[in-house]
Order: sequence, then C-alpha cells, then structure tokens
Amino acid sequence: MTLIHRTLAACVAAGLLGLTGCAPSAPPQASTAPAETATSTAAPDAAPYAMDDYAKVRKFDAHVHANGPDPVFLQLAQADNFELLSINVDYPDFPTLDLQHTAALKLAKDDPQRFHWAATFSMKGFGTPDWLARTNKRLDDEVAEGAKAVKVWKNIGMVEKNAKGELIKLDDPGLSPVAEHIQALGIPLIAHQAEPYNCWLPLDKMTTDNDREYFSKHPDYYMYLHPEMPTHEDLMAARDRFVAAHPQLKFVGAHMASLEYDVDVLAKFLDTYPNATVDLAARMSQVQYQSLRDPAKVRDFFVRYQDRLMYGTDLTQAPDADPAAFKAEAHAYWASDWKYLATAESQRIDMLKADVPGLALPRAVIDKIYYTNAVREFDLKNQAAAK
Ligand SMILES: [Zn+2]
Repeated sequence: MTLIHRTLAACVAAGLLGLTGCAPSAPPQASTAPAETATSTAAPDAAPYAMDDYAKVRKFDAHVHANGPDPVFLQLAQADNFELLSINVDYPDFPTLDLQHTAALKLAKDDPQRFHWAATFSMKGFGTPDWLARTNKRLDDEVAEGAKAVKVWKNIGMVEKNAKGELIKLDDPGLSPVAEHIQALGIPLIAHQAEPYNCWLPLDKMTTDNDREYFSKHPDYYMYLHPEMPTHEDLMAARDRFVAAHPQLKFVGAHMASLEYDVDVLAKFLDTYPNATVDLAARMSQVQYQSLRDPAKVRDFFVRYQDRLMYGTDLTQAPDADPAAFKAEAHAYWASDWKYLATAESQRIDMLKADVPGLALPRAVIDKIYYTNAVREFDLKNQAAAK
C-alpha cells in the first residue's frame, strides 16, 4: 500500500513510499474519546495538551491527497476530529487531474464542512497562445465549484522546460498572469518548490535516514549527483523573487517552503514575506532533528510564528488503498505528530535513531497551528461558523 506522497523525489517518475520509510515509528494511539469539536479556552499558563486531548480538539490537516472517491479518509478524519485540505497536484504517479478533481467534488459533496480541496493546472502547452486563457478558465470553474486554493508543484523549476530547452522557474514571466488571476480570485497559491536540502548533500551529511536511504537508491532524483540541475539556492531564489513580485498574493510554502533544515532560515523567509505562510507536511523529522539538538530554539520558533504555520502531513490515500490499513497507518502518523507538537512525551523516531521529546507547545499555539490558521488562510470562516 502506498500511503505517503513521496515528496522527496525530484523527477516525474518519483514513486510513492509506504509509511515505514517516511514517517515516525510511533505506535497508533488508540483513542476512545468522542470526536466532538472543542477548542481550548484554557488560560495561557494551562498545562499543555495530552494524548487524551487528541480526539477532543478540532484539528485541520492542510496538506493531504485523497486520490479516490472512497470515503475512508473522511471517515478517519471524522473519528480523529480533523478537517482536510486535499490538494490536487500535477504529478504523473497520481491519478489524472480530471480524476483527482472528480474525487474532490464527490468527497466535498459527502461532507462539505470537513473536506476542502485545492485545484491545480497543467503546464502542458505553457507558452502557447491559448494556455493562459485555458488555465485561468479552469481555475475560475474550479473555484466556482468550491476549490479553496491552487497548487503548483516542483515540476516548475525541476522538470518542465520552455521552447529553448531551459527549465521553467516559478518566476518565469509567463506564470505571472496566472498568479495575478489567483490573487484576484482571492485564494492562496500553495507552492511546492525544490526538495529537502538533504537532496543536495552527500549521503554522510544528510540529517535523516529516510532521505539517505531514498537518495542512495534513486540516483536519478539525487541532486547532489546532478550538478547540471539547479541548486537548492537557485530554486529558493526564484521562489523568493516570485513571492516578492506578488506581495498581495496569499502564498503557502508547502513542506515548510523547503527550508525545513533550519528554523532560522525559515524564520527569515517568513519575516521577509508577510504574505507567506507554510505548511509542515512531510518534514517533521527534519524539525525533530533540530529540536533534539536545541529544543528551546525550535519551540521558540513555533511560538514566535504561531500565526504563520499550518499543520499538514502529505498523507495520501491511493485509489486502491486497503481502507483498514490506511486508517491504522494514517491515525498512527497523526497521533505521532500530536505527541511531538502538543505534549511533552518522548517517542522513538527511527529515521533519527533517537528518542525525541515533545515540544509541549502552549494550547493556544496548538489551536492556531492545528486549526485557526488554516480556517483564516483558506477563508473557511463561514463554513466553520455553520458548525
Ligand atoms: Zn503533497
């Protein structure tokens, strides 16, 4: 079964990875608490949340991929008290864009208050006369159907080429009118650019075992071996120029804006671009690597940027996923992250070969990162109020 959208691979042929290779190894935390909605009203000095609070607190996973119409993801979200933002993505190993779109419409119809989705567009035909009109029309239609954001993927920057054979970067002038259109629609652009920094490092300098193992087995996607490809810095610079050129655009940097390797660097990005937020999807082990070395610094980062961070996982429901196995593994993933961010409990993280203590973030910070920031960013206030 494939559960996690493999975000590490650089190229279009990237495969999917099972949970064991990508996620913390915490056992599932069985919860019998009812899935009611509750938000903290505790005083700021109240004790942090515990594992028992997991199912009681209203939560939002701002980065998942429900790639089929099966309601299994929604059922789990209901049991674990999550809302979902399922992100359609122009990724060849996923179902086609039309199939992803159909699945999103079906699930949103099943549970409009819990299931939200992000549209995307194809780069096929980019630079031809009708590409822009076709793309903007598609976005108009999908927003009218309920899309809450638009996603661009790392194929921009690392795969797609222009007529001259050069890689198309995010700050390509041809993408600017689309960004302006998305801004006019009033929804955020979610951008996954580049790869984890480890992808450009020698194996013995990588910080996590999963990256080391994956890139040693997939040399095609391992940028350290491909000096002809853009550097991490090149891709970040193009992304930064794009964000700077569109200061009114709501910009969401997927996967901690690919600055997961250093909270100081991510802090600088957030300070420089007030229109930017980030999701935490599929990068928790790199954060844990840092908090093992300097827990106060990482905790301070979360507290300081509590309004700019959105919880997310990259959990991916493949169309042929076994429902019971999917539920068990996705629940374990969510529970492990909750243990790390919300509680002070330690857990074994295999990819770091270490026991990692929880950050025990204040309840008010958890409530923002786990819920209210996403409601604000994706403008779900009306839906939330209707609960
Ligand atoms: Zn993803």
